[in-house]
Amino acid sequence: MPFKSSAIHRKLLKILVIFFYLPGPLLAQEAVLISNARLVIGDGSVIENGSLLVRGGEIAAVSSGAIPVRDVARVIDGRGKTVIPALIDGHTHPGFQSRHDWGGHNYSPENLRENLEQYAWYGFAAAFSAGTDAEQMALEFQQNQRERYPNAARLLFSAGMGPQGQGPNDAFPLEVAAVAERTGQTILHGLYSPEQAVLEARGVAASGIDFIKIWVDDRGGSQRKLAPDVYRPLIAVSESLGLKVFVHQQFAGDMPDLLSAGAHGFLHGRLGDAFTAEIAEQTAASGAFVVPNLGLGELRREVIGEDPFLRAVLPDAGADGLTGSGRLPAGEIVRDEERESSLRDSLMRLLDAGADIVLGTDAGALPGHPFGYTGHRELEILVRLGMSPMQALAAGTSVAARHLEIDDLGLLAPGYSASLVILSANPLDDIRNTRTIERVFLEGREIHRDTIAARLSEAR
Ligand SMILES: [Zn+2]
Repeated sequence: MPFKSSAIHRKLLKILVIFFYLPGPLLAQEAVLISNARLVIGDGSVIENGSLLVRGGEIAAVSSGAIPVRDVARVIDGRGKTVIPALIDGHTHPGFQSRHDWGGHNYSPENLRENLEQYAWYGFAAAFSAGTDAEQMALEFQQNQRERYPNAARLLFSAGMGPQGQGPNDAFPLEVAAVAERTGQTILHGLYSPEQAVLEARGVAASGIDFIKIWVDDRGGSQRKLAPDVYRPLIAVSESLGLKVFVHQQFAGDMPDLLSAGAHGFLHGRLGDAFTAEIAEQTAASGAFVVPNLGLGELRREVIGEDPFLRAVLPDAGADGLTGSGRLPAGEIVRDEERESSLRDSLMRLLDAGADIVLGTDAGALPGHPFGYTGHRELEILVRLGMSPMQALAAGTSVAARHLEIDDLGLLAPGYSASLVILSANPLDDIRNTRTIERVFLEGREIHRDTIAARLSEAR
């Protein structure tokens, strides 16, 4: 019966083909060897002509020489290439920016996924969302995230707290309130007394959220600042519950009291003359981190919509708002020398004091501040202001992981998740080479960057 036999044959072949092209966790178990590559470990060290073995989703071995090939499904020739740990953004607001517009109507698991896939396209393994998430939705998103959204960077998030009815920037509270209304979920916890603030922290800990973000900012006199008699007990009880408290503070001058209260990190650096050596030293001594977050102000002056590195994931209509309205090509932007040296000096004060600097962008907090892209640009800014490329990469990998309590990301080391980026050019020579992404692996599995870019850049 030749017909039947060939039908069975075809069916078998189809099963085999499906097996070979199956993208999911099945192939995550395959071993991959990257040989002869420059390995930027993430802790400030580098191995030239090294090898790295991925097995079972983890980094199984890192060697300065060859690793014997045995049971390895795939060998990647790393000659001339650089491997870095996948990056981490320590300050973002996913959910509100979609491919088409910005606002609370976009906030959904599907849009979170899309934003975090954009992060993955840019070589990010995790992103820390700072206080603007519908808490139950975000918790559900986190559960089994790797199985359900294998192409997305890992979502970390914090409960958001500020004076009752206040919090983020002027447009944001309305959008956040709209999401809270639509989902029936808590997003911003309004604080009005020390006792109630303590109860809120206990509630957050009980719900399984590991971080609290507080806003200490009067928004140029339009809001009430969170008072020390409220944030002090809040931070103290959070500490006792194992929660970390990160701060949005408008002025460096607010930092000493927040530091003495035990704040774990600052999501806006407020670098400049007011960021004194004393504050830098106090920051270092307390072990808190600072996210300089300078691209937020800078990039809206630039025609980023024409940058091919951003255009790759933008629909044509999405580029419009990022090209006009007073924006200039990067080469034509004249920087105020006084401000530049003030920023540089204060960043140096932080580095000299030995304080931890973490990469963060505030992406998604307002329209047109794109996920992932802004992280690469922030690395450039950090280097422009005096960090070495190696220091900047550590800020976006191991240092960020440590402060965000991610124990399996940020280093190319055995036992760590195999979340890494293969670059075709060396970022230690020029930090802009973090743009030369050839492949991104998340937890041992190569993500499909072309598929992600095709969907992100689709017209409505
Ligand atoms: Zn923010």
